[in-house]
This record gives sequence, C-alpha cells and structure tokens, in this order.
Amino acid sequence: MTTHPFIYVANWKMYGLRNSGEELREIITALENTIFPNMSNKEIVFAPPATLISYFADIIHTSSCSTPIALAGQNCHTQCEGAYTGSISAPMLYDSGARYVLLGHSEVRQVADSDADILEKTHIAHRAGLRTIVCVGEERKQRESGKAVQTVIEQLSRCLDKDFSYDNGDIAYEPLWAIGAESPPSVTEIAEMHEAITLYFHDNGVKNIPRILYGGAVNENTIHTIKNIANVNGVLVGRASLKSSQFLKIIEP
Ligand code: PEP
Repeated sequence: MTTHPFIYVANWKMYGLRNSGEELREIITALENTIFPNMSNKEIVFAPPATLISYFADIIHTSSCSTPIALAGQNCHTQCEGAYTGSISAPMLYDSGARYVLLGHSEVRQVADSDADILEKTHIAHRAGLRTIVCVGEERKQRESGKAVQTVIEQLSRCLDKDFSYDNGDIAYEPLWAIGAESPPSVTEIAEMHEAITLYFHDNGVKNIPRILYGGAVNENTIHTIKNIANVNGVLVGRASLKSSQFLKIIEP
C-alpha cells in the first residue's frame, strides 16, 4: 500500500481568467485557517490554463499555507523550443511556476496526441523537472466489449518507458465515458482497473509505483466512495474543481 500523499488535481481545462485567482485564494485561506484537520498526507495540484500559471504561482508563493499546493500545465510540446506557433514547452511551464504537467488527457488525445507523442512528452517533461500525470482510459465501446483493462494496459505500455515511476510521475485512469458524465463507474470497475495498473508496474519491476488517480464525475457526492477504493491514490477533478466551495468539499468531504 502506498504511503505517498493522496493527490487532488483540479483540471480547469479552458476555463478561467485572472479574476478566478479568487477561487485559489479561497482554498488557500481555508487551508491556512486549518478548517480541515487531516491535510498532512494530501497534496493539491491546480492545472489552470497556461495563461494563469505564473499568476497562480505568485498567489501560492505569497501565502503561508502548509499544505503542498502545486501547479500543472495541461499539456506540453515534444520539443523545448522552436518554430511551433501556439505551443508551450515543458521548460516554459517549469519557468512559469508549474511542477507538473498533465499528458494524454482524452480531450487532447482526441485532437492531437498519439501514445508515441505522449512517450516523447514524458521524456522532455521529466528532463525539464516536471512530474508527469499520464492519463489513460478506455472508450465506452471498449468497456462494453470487455476490453477495458487490455486497452489501458496497452496504452501504458506505449506511453511509458521503464524509468517511469513515482519518482517522476503519476497515472490518471479516466474512462472516457465517465468524463463529464453524471456518475462514475462502479466501485468494482474502478477497483479492477486500479489493481490491473498496479500489477502492470509490479510486473515490470517498478519499485516505487506511481500514484494512480481516478478521474471522471468526481464531486462532493462521489468522492467519499472513490477515495476509499483500493489502489486509488488521488483524483483528477474537472467540473467540480472550478468553484472553491465545491473543490473544498472534495478535498475534505
Ligand atoms: C476531467 O476533465 O479530466 C474530468 C474528469 O472531468 P469531470 O470531473 O468533469 O468528469
């Protein structure tokens, strides 16, 4: 069983202007005022749009919050720099204050990234000093045809190299059919997948097994069940992370 901090990741997608710094401030204020007693083994990561990272970094650095709060990019390029208009590189994310980057989110995979791209991105991100959160997950038709575990394990084997471990990254299991949905998969479905992913790392001789986050329809009502499922070491939250009042109920339900 992992002893790494349970991680709560807020994926803000393409939402948020500078005035949403207020949401972050409210979280920090709540944590500073120690409303919540059990924050010692928790870590919080915000993945706002890239335009807000350095602004959010300033807010975090000027606070006295003892709970670790880090920032993440939502994607990065396979190169450090170059003639790639509109792109953001891993060193740029690090320079703006991010210490994590999400890779392979299904919304990115759908329009851009292949597993091979994600593998390249893990390399460049780790070299830039970023921890990676690599997202995997099956489509509904793969779940319905009994191929969910096989799909996810194949994704892992193509997106990760043998050096991937908790030392440089985490995994987020996000079934595509649960992202933006009303309810998450059943406990059995989540438990089966998280066990299969854990075994994958065991079988590949990884000693320091990455945290395995669950993502898809996590909210104040579903968190309690999800966080108690075996091998769930964190959550990746979309919609319910945008408002501090809702996200706080997830951090400490
Ligand atoms: C996500 O965007 O990764 C996600 C899980 O979204 P939601 O929590 O809204 O289902």
